[in-house]
Amino acid sequence: FLSKLPNVGTTIFTVMGTLANKHKAINLSQGFPDFPSDKKLSDLVYTAMNSGYNQYASMAGQIDLLLAISNKYQDLYNAQYHPEKEITITAGATQGIYTIISAFIRPGDEVIIFKPAYDCYQPAVEVNGGKAVSIQLSAPEYKVDWNEVATKISSKTKMILINTPHNPSGTILSKEDMMQLQKLTKDTDIIILSDEVYEHMVYDGEKHQSVCLFPDLKKRSFITASFGKTFHNTGWKVGYCCAPEALMREYRKVHQFNVFSVNHPVQKGIADYMQDPNTYLGLNTFFQQKRDLFLNLIQESRFKFQPSQGTYFQVLEYSAITDENDVDFAKRLTRDYKIASIPLSVFNENQKDDKVLRFCFAKTDETLVKAAEILCKI
Ligand code: PMP
Ligand code: GLN
Repeated sequence: FLSKLPNVGTTIFTVMGTLANKHKAINLSQGFPDFPSDKKLSDLVYTAMNSGYNQYASMAGQIDLLLAISNKYQDLYNAQYHPEKEITITAGATQGIYTIISAFIRPGDEVIIFKPAYDCYQPAVEVNGGKAVSIQLSAPEYKVDWNEVATKISSKTKMILINTPHNPSGTILSKEDMMQLQKLTKDTDIIILSDEVYEHMVYDGEKHQSVCLFPDLKKRSFITASFGKTFHNTGWKVGYCCAPEALMREYRKVHQFNVFSVNHPVQKGIADYMQDPNTYLGLNTFFQQKRDLFLNLIQESRFKFQPSQGTYFQVLEYSAITDENDVDFAKRLTRDYKIASIPLSVFNENQKDDKVLRFCFAKTDETLVKAAEILCKI
C-alpha cells in the first residue's frame, strides 16, 4: 500500500520511554508526573462508578463536567462558553486536536504551525490532505516574528495552530503576541486552534493569555485542554475543547463517529473535584517550586538555560559539553548516565543543529535531586 504518512516513524515519547526502561534511567523524557494524583479525585471517580455512571456518557460530555468547565472560563477569563453547545469532552487533548483538524482541513488547505511543535499536529494535518506551513522559532527565546507570520498567511490558510505555554520550549505567548495574532487574522475566517493544555502552569507571576480573552480571536477559535496535565493523571486521557456554537456543531459531526463519548465515571469524578477551584489554581506555585529546585541544583552544571515560563518542561542547552547532535546525545545520556530526556530536533525537522534537550520536572523532589546530581557530572 501507499503510506499516507511516509515520513512518520514511531513517536519520540515511545522511543525514549522504551530506552529509559531498558537502561533503568531516570525518565525525564515523556511528560508525566512520577507522583500520584490526589486520592480525593480517585475516590470521587470510584464513587461515580458505584453510583451508576457506568454506561455511555452523553456524546458532548457529562453535564456536571460541562458546567464546571463553563464556570471556570467565566470565573478565570470572564469568557462565556455555553455548557451544552460550546464545550465537548474529549479522550485527551490529542483526540480533540485530531478531530478539530479532521473536521475542518480539506486537501490543499494550509495550516500554519510554529516549530518546534508538539508532535501530533503535523501528522493530523497531513493525513487529512492539508499542508503544514512551518514558521521557525529560534532558541533561546523562541519568539514569534509576526511579520513573518503575515508573509505566510495566504488565501489557502485555513488554520493557525498556537500552543501557550509552549511544549517543548517552555515559553509563553504575551498579550502583545495575542494582539498581533488578532490583528493579522481580523476579518478573515482563519480558524485558530489554541492548544492550552498547560494553562495552569505559568510562572513568575505571569498570566496565561488564553485565546478566549481576545473577543475577535475567540469567535474563530478552538481551545483544547487536558485534565491529564492538570490533575496529574495523564493515563486517564480525558480533556475537552471549547469553541463558538457554529464551529462546535461542525466539530461534533466528526466527534460523534470518531470517539462518540468519553469515560463516564472519570468525567463525573472530575466534575465533582472541580467544584473546588483550588484543585487547579494551586498548580502554578506547585510546579514553579519544582522548576526552581531543579534549576538551583543544576546551576553549577555545564548546561545553559533560561527558566521555563510555563509547562512542566525545562530546556537545557549543551553546546559547552559536546558537538554531538541532540538525538545521539539524548540516547547516550540515557544509556551511559541513566537519565532520559527529549531531543528538541524531533519537534522541528528544519533545525537539526540546535543543541537542546527537554527535561520534564513534574517529578518528586527526590527524583529531581537525583537527576540534578547526574546532570552536574556530565
Ligand atoms: N498538546 C500538548 C502541547 C501536549 O504536551 C500534550 C501532551 N503532553 C497534548 C497536547 C496531549 O494531551 P493528552 O495527553 O491529553 O492527549
Ligand atoms: N505530551 C507529552 C510530552 O510532551 C507526551 C504525550 C505522549 O506521549 N503522546 O511529553
